[in-house]
Amino acid sequence: MTQGWKKSDWRARPRVQMPDYPDTAALNAVEAQLAKYPPLVFAGEARRLKKQLAQAATGKAFLLQGGDCAESFAEFSADNIRDTFRVMLQMAVVLTFGAKVPVIKVGRMAGQFAKPRSAPTEVIGGVEYPSYRGDIINGFEATQEARIPDPKRMLQAYTQAAASLNLLRAFSTGGFADIHRVHSWTLGFAEHDKAERYRELSNRISDALDFMNAAGVTSDNAEVLSRVDFYTSHEALLLEYEEALCRVDSLTGQNVAGSGHMIWIGDRTRQPDGAHVEFCRGVLNPIGLKCGPTTTAEDLKVLMAKLNPENEAGRLTLIARFGAGKVGDHLPRLIKAVQEEGASVLWSCDPMHGNTIKAASGYKTRPFDSVLREVREFFAIHKAEGTIPGGVHFEMTGKDVTECTGGLRAVSDENLADRYHTACDPRLNASQALELAFLVSEELSA
Ligand code: PEP
Ligand code: MN
Repeated sequence: MTQGWKKSDWRARPRVQMPDYPDTAALNAVEAQLAKYPPLVFAGEARRLKKQLAQAATGKAFLLQGGDCAESFAEFSADNIRDTFRVMLQMAVVLTFGAKVPVIKVGRMAGQFAKPRSAPTEVIGGVEYPSYRGDIINGFEATQEARIPDPKRMLQAYTQAAASLNLLRAFSTGGFADIHRVHSWTLGFAEHDKAERYRELSNRISDALDFMNAAGVTSDNAEVLSRVDFYTSHEALLLEYEEALCRVDSLTGQNVAGSGHMIWIGDRTRQPDGAHVEFCRGVLNPIGLKCGPTTTAEDLKVLMAKLNPENEAGRLTLIARFGAGKVGDHLPRLIKAVQEEGASVLWSCDPMHGNTIKAASGYKTRPFDSVLREVREFFAIHKAEGTIPGGVHFEMTGKDVTECTGGLRAVSDENLADRYHTACDPRLNASQALELAFLVSEELSA
């Protein structure tokens, strides 16, 4: 337990990527209101997830984390939540089959609103505006007015997160997540002309389910087939929101981030003495830490000591995001730092954030092949080092968007304009996400 830590201690630390609210009184009022609202998650759930992540760190489970780059108020609907949840379940079945271990499902959902940006302003149509920082902070619309940070947006984000989580909990246990149903959707995908490569694996999953059924293991008598555990996560960027939802767990007296089961620290906010690390170190939730090309071994050692001083298994997930072709330059040196400290960590691969490019059309995109290549490099290096590649982290949606190029339905640069809906970074669409799960599954079973 973190002795003497207070949930407001981050306020005395240097902060980056956070808004300057022009109206302090309005901000204080929102914080006071949020502090009275119920937390979204319960400490026992965060502890259970931590135990499961500890299994993934040793190869006895596998983490699948995925969802929007940025959730938005405009795209909030039951259909969007359902579709992302559905494709994650499909991916989880395919990955379970390849890995032969349970897959831990964690959405970038029900709280993934605040965005770090590469610059404080952006030019749109020749005009300079303050950067959009996610719907919880300011508006996407390109007007000077919309871009002013408005604390009341935190209340709307909270409401949306609560409603999203409610639906996810209902889907998880109410029959929607039945493995036979989930797999039948995947069979539909595998019927695609170009999906021949995936048909064999799908058929093998069908055979396994048929066998279990014949042996008497059915959804009616085996709960594991009809319901799932599904967790939520987001970047803990907007610390006023995080502090307001931080609560004391009555069972242990520890502090818990009540905003989601798992929170992570982004690549731009991981300064060892900064505000974000200060907040995250004090809560009991599992913590993710993005590691990029600029993460030094020295910083990583300090961060591991701060974020996981007792070296608790499952507490810390290192999310590697180097870019295809660069994993070999960085992952081995960070694995070495972990080993030198004797630290317990779960290694996960985010093959999205190091592979963003600008297409000729001006759209930000990510080529499917680069995403796949980074995952393969991540697996190969862990194999060579004798360490465990324990998870993957994707920006994805259940919708048929055209934001990343490639995949078996071959989205091209020219297609990007067709259905480019993301509020921030380009996401894999449902078909690309599932295809990637098949390819990762092949890696896991190799
Ligand atoms: C993200 O996950 O959306 C993100 C901004 O990632 P990173 O901090 O790794 O750049
Ligand atoms: Mn992103």
